[in-house]
Parts: sequence; C-alpha cells; structure tokens
Amino acid sequence: MAEPMAFPASSHIDDLEAHRLAHQFEGGDPRELLRWAIDRYGSRLVLATSFQAEGMVLLDMAWRIEPTIRVVSVDTGRLPQETYDLIERVRERYTLAIEVFSPEAAALETFVGEHGPNPFYRSLELRVGCCDIRKVAPLTRALAGVDAWVTGQRRAHQTTRRGINVVERDVAHGGIVKLNPLATWSDDEVWDYIRTNDIPYNALYDQGFTSIGCAPCTRATRPGDDPRSGRWWWETDAPKECGMQCVIDWNSLRA
Ligand code: SF4
Repeated sequence: MAEPMAFPASSHIDDLEAHRLAHQFEGGDPRELLRWAIDRYGSRLVLATSFQAEGMVLLDMAWRIEPTIRVVSVDTGRLPQETYDLIERVRERYTLAIEVFSPEAAALETFVGEHGPNPFYRSLELRVGCCDIRKVAPLTRALAGVDAWVTGQRRAHQTTRRGINVVERDVAHGGIVKLNPLATWSDDEVWDYIRTNDIPYNALYDQGFTSIGCAPCTRATRPGDDPRSGRWWWETDAPKECGMQCVIDWNSLRA
C-alpha cells in the first residue's frame, strides 16, 4: 500500500464547515462553486482529471473563470491511446500546463518484476496493488501541499458514489477540501454541456465506453448497464473504485 503523505494542518477543514459549504452549494450552478474555490484557494486549488467527460466539463468551466487554474492528472502508464490523443488536444485548445504525475519507478519495477505486467486479472489484491502504485500514490503526491481539489465525481456514477456531497472533507488526503461540483448532474447535463460548447472528449465514448480508465481494465458497456460496470469487469464483488476517490476497506472484501 502507498505510504500516507503528510499534509499541513492549515489545509484541514472540519466536518461542520464541510457540511455548511455542501448545504450552501448543493443544487447550484457548478461554476459558482468553482469561482468560490478559485477565489478562496488560488494556486492551492487543483483540478484533478483523467480527461473523462466530467473532467472535460470542469476543465472548460474552470479555465473560463481562471485560465491559469492548476490542472493535475495521473499517467498510469497504461492509459488508452485515445486518452493520450485527447490530452494533446486539450493542451492545444486550452494552453494549459497540465501537471502529470507518474508512478514511482522503483516501486513499479519491483511490482512488475514480482507479478508480471498484467497481474490485476489474477486477484483483487494484485489489482489493488497495481492501482495503489499506478494511481493512488501519484495522486497523493499531486495533492500534497494543496488545500482543495476538484473532482468529476457524480452521484449517478455508481452506488459507491451516491452519498457524495458537492463539498467534502477528504479524509483520505489529510482532511483537505474535496469539491465535486457535478455531484448532482445527470449524463444528459454533462453531454449537453460538451456538445453546446464543442468541448473535445475521449473518442472511446463513441465506441460504447461510459467510464474510461486504464486500457487493460476498461471496456465498453451495454445500454442500461451501470456506467462504471466496464471497469474491472471481471470482478463481481468489489466496488468499481481504485481508492483515488474514496477510502475502501479492501481487507473486508478479501476476508
Ligand atoms: Fe493497474 Fe488496472 Fe488499476 Fe490501471 S486500472 S492501475 S492497470 S489495476
């Protein structure tokens, strides 16, 4: 598992403030929350994106408010070519310096040396181990020293996300502020915004993908399926999460 990163105490908010802010911004225009966060946190706010549809909406909204908004992303080394192609288009259109965080080389070499390049199909433990090294640890580094981050999580994504608030205290990352401005948005609202504003999006959506992560662990879904059912599709009893966005008690699932 990734080593926990130390966060400065000044970045913490308490549950009461998180609850108050969530109530204040619930149901409002996501741009109001983004504007508030940009004003309050400045360069100590980051937008974290894997360039999925929601991330593109938020990137466009935030960039229109503040063109120097810090954008961070994790390159797991196993992303689909379509995601890399989209990143190039985003760099051209938005003239943003995207901060890309990669897995730590020594940890990855050890893991791949011990378990091979595709161990995730063999057990939940190995899948979580791979996600820890390729996703969770780089994101933890990306969030070190920031006061708040923006995610594209929505309640409609999956059962594990139904309880998210637009503003949360992020326990997994030292109690910093986690903003989910699209928490209440539907699929239609996301795609209406993308089409209305002619925003670039990942070409895999046109091939039936509804959630896009690493190439070997993502596949297209069928109409009516849970949007995240194409992620780690061979796992039947585990949440469709990697641990970046929420704390999962993996040990209880292994028992
Ligand atoms: Fe590894 Fe798959 Fe997780 Fe990507 S999604 S980090 S390839 S287990």
